[in-house]
Amino acid sequence: MTFTVDVLVVGAGLAGLRTARLLALQGFDVLVCERSTSLDVGIRTTGIFVRRTLEDFALPGHCLGPAIRRVVLYPPSLRTPVELVSSRDEFRVADMAGIYAHARTQAELAGARVLLGVPYPAREISARFTIGADGARSTVARRLGLDVNRRLLVGVEEVFSVGTGAVPTFHCVVDPRLAPGYLAWVVDDGQHAHVGLAGQSGRLAAPLPRLLRSFRAGFPDVPAPTGPVRRRGGPIPVGGVLRRIACAEGLLVGDAAGAVSPLTAGGLDPCLRMSRLAAAVAGDYLRTGDTSTLRHYDGAAMRAHFRGRLMLRDAFARVRRPAAAEIAFALLRTGPGRAAASRILFGDGSFPDPTKVGGRMLQ
Ligand SMILES: Cc1cc2nc3c(=O)[nH]c(=O)nc-3n(C[C@H](O)[C@H](O)[C@H](O)COP(=O)(O)OP(=O)(O)OC[C@H]3O[C@@H](n4cnc5c(N)ncnc54)[C@H](O)[C@@H]3O)c2cc1C
Repeated sequence: MTFTVDVLVVGAGLAGLRTARLLALQGFDVLVCERSTSLDVGIRTTGIFVRRTLEDFALPGHCLGPAIRRVVLYPPSLRTPVELVSSRDEFRVADMAGIYAHARTQAELAGARVLLGVPYPAREISARFTIGADGARSTVARRLGLDVNRRLLVGVEEVFSVGTGAVPTFHCVVDPRLAPGYLAWVVDDGQHAHVGLAGQSGRLAAPLPRLLRSFRAGFPDVPAPTGPVRRRGGPIPVGGVLRRIACAEGLLVGDAAGAVSPLTAGGLDPCLRMSRLAAAVAGDYLRTGDTSTLRHYDGAAMRAHFRGRLMLRDAFARVRRPAAAEIAFALLRTGPGRAAASRILFGDGSFPDPTKVGGRMLQ
């Protein structure tokens, strides 16, 4: 079977499914191709949604776990952790299989077609415009000659049901031996636990599964599983939004565009926000054929809003020894240190609204 469509969206993650829906709602013939044969295998994310995302986007409530207000930060010694409790519901961990199923249904209701088990490039599909929503190591970016992610963390985690009924808590361990340049974590919302870690790929002291085993064995607050343990993971781009993310043949969105907070490595909020601008700009371009409309999808302008976060990422990456992390924790335990950590974890900032930094305001 062959397909000739207005828009081919490559990748049925959150970025691809949402962009497909928004383009289909504009009346375009949209096809999504996804190389996986099912959306509930090969999930790459913990699925923590932050408060701003939960406020701004209608996510299906039945897919969201209990609210988390408590974060505990640990130095490598695990001694004298810093506990931060927000007065607001800050995070919810989602059942991502349910979130993807919902996003797929929304895209299909809008008129997009979703083909699973079809890797790009596919000879049987021709399109006027291609949207690369194919993740951190984007094939679309390479084939269209757009920028590609070069600064990556790699992460792995285990997910299982728990019967703790514990106070929902996000435990974060800063230990460059386990997670160089990032964190090891236990998220326990009383229903499910996620135990994972991520670090800079070139600096990992051992293969990820071995590091995860040693973290699990040494961290006291890992709850006991009450069901099967599933493993997931993947690369996380943390070099900031790429500069060149659009051309006459297509554009990039989500991880493919580097749209992840360089500091927290959160990418779910960015892919929801960015897909709105991607769909608007692609729609304008397809209607008018005017390549100047693509200038509104300006990675360099979006990137400029990340300068501070990129600097903090560099500082984080320079913490190479446990002793340096212990010193950083001494600062974190002070009033200003706690206030700074609370601002990063509980602040009102989110991925900057790309519709306001891409050169124009959208309706
Ligand atoms: C371990 C881990 C934990 C994370 N936890 C969080 C978190 O808790 N909160 C948060 O905000 N962010 C988190 N992130 C980051 C976040 O998950 C991503 O930024 C986000 O999911 C990116 O969505 P996306 O749609 O751009 O890409 P993806 O979800 O990666 O989707 C890309 C899709 O494209 C498909 N694809 C790839 N190549 C091809 C091809 N050639 N042809 C067809 N299909 C293709 C893939 O199969 C995939 O389905 C985490 C990342 C990792 C790795």
